[in-house]
Amino acid sequence: MKIIDLRSDTVTQPTPAMRKAMAEAEVGDDVYGDDPTVQRLEALAADMVGTEAALFTPSGTQANLIALMCHCQRGDEYIVGQGAHCYKFEGGGAAVLGSIQPQPIQPEKDGTLNLETVIKLIKPKDIHFVSTRLLCLENTYNGKVLPLDYIDRATQFVKEYNLSSHLDGARLFNAAVQQKVTAKRIAEKFDTVSICLSKGLGAPIGSVLCLPRAMIADARRWRKALGGGMRQSGIVAAAGIVALSDHIGRLAKDHENARHLSNRLCEIDELDVDNEATQTNMVFFTMKKETPHRLADHLYHYGILSPTLFQTVRFVTHLNVSRDDIDFVIEKIKDFFTS
Ligand SMILES: *Cc1c(COP(=O)(O)O)cnc(C)c1O
Repeated sequence: MKIIDLRSDTVTQPTPAMRKAMAEAEVGDDVYGDDPTVQRLEALAADMVGTEAALFTPSGTQANLIALMCHCQRGDEYIVGQGAHCYKFEGGGAAVLGSIQPQPIQPEKDGTLNLETVIKLIKPKDIHFVSTRLLCLENTYNGKVLPLDYIDRATQFVKEYNLSSHLDGARLFNAAVQQKVTAKRIAEKFDTVSICLSKGLGAPIGSVLCLPRAMIADARRWRKALGGGMRQSGIVAAAGIVALSDHIGRLAKDHENARHLSNRLCEIDELDVDNEATQTNMVFFTMKKETPHRLADHLYHYGILSPTLFQTVRFVTHLNVSRDDIDFVIEKIKDFFTS
């Protein structure tokens, strides 16, 4: 049976071109800085994102944590959205491993953090308080693209308040494709930017932390301490180079498919679809009477994998989901409500 996996864009299978690049990759020991393929990937990522340097990491979680640990010392603080990945979905790593205090705030509906609210949360310089060091944003946030003028304001704002900025750009290229701008246009004014190769870009493993040259030594040290110093990692970096070189343009297809999925879900009365929130490759809906578990059980019989973690169901399109797959999914969801 064909599997249609809508749980995330992390589930993509590496393409034949990626497997070939991996098989043929020239490698060395990257802990010694000797892997030419890792170096090529890092140079490419830095160039595309607009930073001086970059560091290949095994996961996006680790890239974000390294950034936090470079920006913040023990007893410092980062301001972050309540639902942000690097606050809510990373096992509390900043606090657990970095001794860094999060200051979460409720994001606006478009995924931005209100800068007036941020100002009020910056701690006074006084022994009672941690030092506020960093503002973290996420783009895309729940599939939503941060407005460019907001990014310009926020990156200017951090300068005025003497903070640093980190962008969790796990899906930065989805944002760039949707806004028809380069990733650099969105990312270059941030101090650090993490990007995921293993989401919609389709690589099997890996993220890149893009950063200033002055931070690279610290970042390499924290990556080693966190267990992310890898050896002949050019094997996986090779797939990342294919992802960055050949898979960005095709994200538009995932966005079209998500739009199609969102529109067709709206045909189903039993669902409340957040149709306006569908901007890139994610679709969100709730059910008036049913549970995500019961829906997922039904769809599973037809090879469709659907998430059950939250009451709001998130479907994600990616390179292994076609328009025909979406029509098949719609048919099976309709069956669920009529059977
Ligand atoms: C997936 C993701 C990450 C990193 O996840 P890993 O699974 O650790 O690679 C970070 N931020 C966002 C917004 C993500 O979606």
